[in-house]
Parts: sequence; structure tokens; C-alpha cells
Amino acid sequence: MAYDTNNIFARILRGELPCHKVYEDDDTFAFLDIMPRADGHTLVLPRSPAVNLIDATPAQLSSVILTVQRIARAAKSAFAADGVRIEQFNEAAGGQMVFHLHFHVLPRWTGVDLRPPGKMADPEVLKAHAETLRKALAA
Ligand code: 5GP
Repeated sequence: MAYDTNNIFARILRGELPCHKVYEDDDTFAFLDIMPRADGHTLVLPRSPAVNLIDATPAQLSSVILTVQRIARAAKSAFAADGVRIEQFNEAAGGQMVFHLHFHVLPRWTGVDLRPPGKMADPEVLKAHAETLRKALAA
């Protein structure tokens, strides 16, 4: 599949669409999932185009996984999580819906199920969670 420069995450990266940003550096960008399956559910992307893991370069993968670890550590602490799940989907058959490489960082608590997919969060709650995560990242 060719990379679509107008996919929703490309537009967020260009600042054309809003997001609740939690972290950025020269190579990567992280923001809250708009339909979080857990409090603090964060998406981590390379800034440069890649459809998914299959076409990503070693440089994209190495920078993005370090940001995934950074977010996972901060989210575990910020949300007092017992664990963290990392998810990453490739191609429609693999469950991918947005075709710019991204990793999901999902805080998990013992005995607490993930919420069902597809439910938009209250923007005020997302705003508060992004602030909580940014503070943990700055600590
Ligand atoms: P995937 O491609 O990994 O299957 O799913 C894409 C993810 O992006 C979903 O968890 C969905 O909730 C999230 N998502 C889709 N559109 C937007 C958006 O406009 N903003 C944000 N922050 N997340 C989105």
C-alpha cells in the first residue's frame, strides 16, 4: 500500500487537526487516542511517513520504540498502572485503521478490562490526562 499523505495522523503531525499531545522530539510524536480503551491510552508515531511496521526503516523503528518505552514508563507511573500493554497493527487484515505507523501504549490495572473500542472520550478528560502524562514525562 502506498502512503497516503492525507491520512488522519499525517494531518495531526502537520498541525492541520488538533490532538492532545503528550510528547515530541525530532523523530517521534505522541498524543492521546481520541477513543481511549484505558485512561492514558497513547499513540506513538514516527514523524516521517511509514504505512506500518512492514515498510518502516530501522531508523524509524529504533526511534519510535524508545519513545514507546518513555511513554510506557511515564504512563505506568502517572496512572498508577499495574502494567502496560503495547499494541501495533499492520494492514487492514491485521486490524490497522489509520495507515501511518503507530504503537498503542495502554496502561493496565489488575482486574480492569479494556473499554470497548469506538467510544469517543470527553475532551476535558483527555485534556486532564494529557496534562497528567506530560507532568510525569517532565519529572
Ligand atoms: P489502529 O489503526 O491502530 O487499528 O487504530 C487507530 C487508532 O487511532 C484507534 O485507536 C482510534 O481510536 C485512533 N484514532 C482515530 N482517529 C483519531 C483521531 O482523529 N485522533 C486521535 N487522537 N486518535 C484517533
